Amino acid sequence: CPQVQRALQALTISLDVLWEVKERMQRAMRRGLSRHTHAEADVRMLPTYICSTPDGSEKGDFLVVELCQTHVRTLWVTLLGDGNQSPQVMYKIFEMPEHITQGKGEELFDFIAQCMREFLAGVSSPQQNIPLGFVFPFTCRQTQLDKAELVAWSKGFRCRDVEGKDVVQLLQSAIRKQELYHVDVVALMNDTVGTMMTCNVAGKPCEVALIVGEQWAPCMPGGWFWGGAGAQPPLLPAGSGTNSCFMAEAQQVEMAEETSGRMCVNTEWGYFGDNGSLNDILTPYDQHVDEESSNPKEKRFEKMVGSLYLGEIVRHALIALAAEKVLFLESSVVALKTKGVLKTQQVLEILKNEDGMAEAKRALEALGMRPSERDCCRVQQLCRAVVSRAATLCAAGLAAILSHMCQSRELERLVVNVGVDGDLYHGHTRFREILQSVTGLLAPDCIATLLPSTDGTGRGAAMVTAVALRLATRRREVNGLLAPLRLSRADLERVQGLMRREMELGLGRETNANASVRMLPTYVCGTPDGTERGDFLALDLGGTNFRVLVVRVGQDSIRMASEIYVIPTSVMQGTGEALFDHIIDCIIDFQLKQELMEEVLPLGFTFSFPCQQLGLDKAVLLTWTKGFSASGCVGQDVVQLLRQAAQRKQHFGLKVVAVVNDTVGTMMSCGYEDPNCEIGLIVGTGTNACYMEEMKNVGTVEGEQGRMCINMEWGAFGDNGCLNDIFTRFDVMVDEKTINRGKQRFEKLISGMYLGEIVRYILLALVKSELLFRGKSYVKLQTRDIFQTKFLSSIETDGLGLRQVQAILQDLELQASFEDCVLVREVCQTVSLRAAQLCAAGLAAVVEKMRENRGLAQLAVTVGVDGTLYKMHPNFSQHLQQTLRDLAPNCNVTFLLSEDGSGKGAALVAAVACRGSEP
Ligand code: ADP
Ligand code: MG
Repeated sequence: CPQVQRALQALTISLDVLWEVKERMQRAMRRGLSRHTHAEADVRMLPTYICSTPDGSEKGDFLVVELCQTHVRTLWVTLLGDGNQSPQVMYKIFEMPEHITQGKGEELFDFIAQCMREFLAGVSSPQQNIPLGFVFPFTCRQTQLDKAELVAWSKGFRCRDVEGKDVVQLLQSAIRKQELYHVDVVALMNDTVGTMMTCNVAGKPCEVALIVGEQWAPCMPGGWFWGGAGAQPPLLPAGSGTNSCFMAEAQQVEMAEETSGRMCVNTEWGYFGDNGSLNDILTPYDQHVDEESSNPKEKRFEKMVGSLYLGEIVRHALIALAAEKVLFLESSVVALKTKGVLKTQQVLEILKNEDGMAEAKRALEALGMRPSERDCCRVQQLCRAVVSRAATLCAAGLAAILSHMCQSRELERLVVNVGVDGDLYHGHTRFREILQSVTGLLAPDCIATLLPSTDGTGRGAAMVTAVALRLATRRREVNGLLAPLRLSRADLERVQGLMRREMELGLGRETNANASVRMLPTYVCGTPDGTERGDFLALDLGGTNFRVLVVRVGQDSIRMASEIYVIPTSVMQGTGEALFDHIIDCIIDFQLKQELMEEVLPLGFTFSFPCQQLGLDKAVLLTWTKGFSASGCVGQDVVQLLRQAAQRKQHFGLKVVAVVNDTVGTMMSCGYEDPNCEIGLIVGTGTNACYMEEMKNVGTVEGEQGRMCINMEWGAFGDNGCLNDIFTRFDVMVDEKTINRGKQRFEKLISGMYLGEIVRYILLALVKSELLFRGKSYVKLQTRDIFQTKFLSSIETDGLGLRQVQAILQDLELQASFEDCVLVREVCQTVSLRAAQLCAAGLAAVVEKMRENRGLAQLAVTVGVDGTLYKMHPNFSQHLQQTLRDLAPNCNVTFLLSEDGSGKGAALVAAVACRGSEP
């Protein structure tokens, strides 16, 4: 029969179109998530502020109160911390008089609180405070887990003075009125999220929930029920329609402030299509169902999927086919015209193969009709089509969620559990099979395991409350542990002031000896002017690599060639003679390779350790840093040590013109590009800075004219104890394990050699407090320097999925959950932010001093910067610059990255020195 075929076809959605529907759903979800389009989005994507799923450690007693259509249900749930294997549940159902739902809001909440009091009177609890989860199945504007304004009543409720108010507060004050002072509302939730929470299987969290059709909550009206995991209580309807929720990346949930980790989003997908996006698949039957409903033009998706409507769709299809004279030729169809005469439950019975036909006959005869065998067969076909369509649409929606998750987590393949509740799912194999297989077709990159959920609103709500409590406690403890690392604006100003004071002390002739910031004169009195020419040799010692370079300064460009040489740790920490012999060997090797043996080139020696410089080519080593400890060098002129080694090696072609600190080299190399560059900054293995100071302020060198570059050696700032209250116990632990204990204390807060170690000690403390890695201590994390500073860069750059963090932690043999990854990132961010801010406080002291020196209201100056930490870390430079602007608002500071400052810079110092004289 072509008419019947046409009707069936209209109710069948092809796979191509389902793909379309899935994509439209994905677009709708994105619109709902975005702040700009949220208001007009049909799929609302409401943030729930539930930021975690159960991890099985949840423990304690929880009270749940659920507001249902005609009842209030109270539950007492005991979680044993056993992976939620056997939660104990006890509950009571209270019938709600109808006038309560139509009266004053206060009366509604008083009624709920009275139910709770009565319930609690029968439960003896040793607990002091009872956390309460409130299941409130109405549309709310939620802004915290325990803060939600009711947007509008539905489901027949019409209480006055509640819309626009915070329902948690209303409930909490009603609870106070009942003198239940020990009950605290911890979480408010709708009825979908609990479903997700009850389906966690050991080790594999459930991160999606789906509701299709009526949910049933176990009940025994008026009575008590004690039930363990396996018990089967009677049922009470708890909700209908369709909805879903899933764990989204918090950063994408723009309506919520939360930016890290994940948050459960209540999609409210029943409204999908309300903007017309499903019009092409709506049948005339759907239109009739919608017109007759109490909310026309609303919840178009739900009206095709929810169990409230399936009977109605079939009924309208029957009416239409009867009008076309292809059905019920022998009876009147008047009875079919009454809304609701064909129940969804009947439709589902008719579906069944064996006695479906008989059921169809029974249902129609009950309406006074006389269906033929063929009528019954066609009715069954229509029922199948309507239910199948509901399942495929549901699958398209689920596939949209899965693909969204897979994409935003940057996964190639998403493996996830999906909790499903609702009578369409529980009761009907056919629905289940279609849902599963079509979801697989539409989201081929995802493996979803569908798990039946029960009592999401009761047990699940307790779980939500427990998780919320666990997270809140954990947050408090984490904050307590990290608090000492978080510096206030006042702290930073104080550091700036202290740095300024130490600078003055370092510059003063009398006070210099006792200053922690040594302020060493460099005898570099000018920056490049562009007239420098010639070929130079340069040595770079004191960075990560030892290098020898030849630098050719030409008219328009600088060309360089260099060679990296390894200095074995045994040489770094052996005798001075062996160290300098090794250096000469490397120079000879380089000159041979570069065919420079015949020439005597001026040599600039970048020596990045604190030196008392007595002339441009005379530098007495004050102390080793950064892992060097060669004997017999401290107190000696390093140029002399180099010349002596050359003598020993019979190498007579060396002409050392200048010893340069890498900081100075950095300033000089940037000065070649930008004449405003009068500050050098290094943030690499160590940290240091230099700047052009007025000669008249330099008490340690004769002469009043002009300026001289001062090598601050600011890494030692604080070695006199002035920063003691900034140091945390983690900094102390890092310091204690270094070879220069008690020294370079400022550097140990900032530079690459130490940040990873600070993070490692914090992670160990978090593990010890059972806030990380579920308290399991891992051997590898105990190893010194195992957590490299470059990890901070990767971890802080990582995308939403935190794949990198997971990979890094896996390499360290750490089994990290997603939440562990979020916390590790927070630790890294805290440590690198503090480093950048402290560095900025130091620089603020420098630029402010320069501005005052020059009597300027506003100073414009450029800082030449080098160091891998500064260059590679994703946030360091930005945080540094931002804090500096804040602390020194009258200075306009530009940052210029130095390219090979220690090589090129040393040559330029030599070149500036040789300027005028023939090199
Ligand atoms: P140096 O200061 O010795 O001249 P660098 O400027 O290259 O050398 O700095 C090396 C330091 O930079 C190392 O100690 C390491 O901790 C750090 N580092 C290396 N790679 C990165 C990275 N990707 N992000 C942040 N820090 C890094
Ligand atoms: Mg360097």
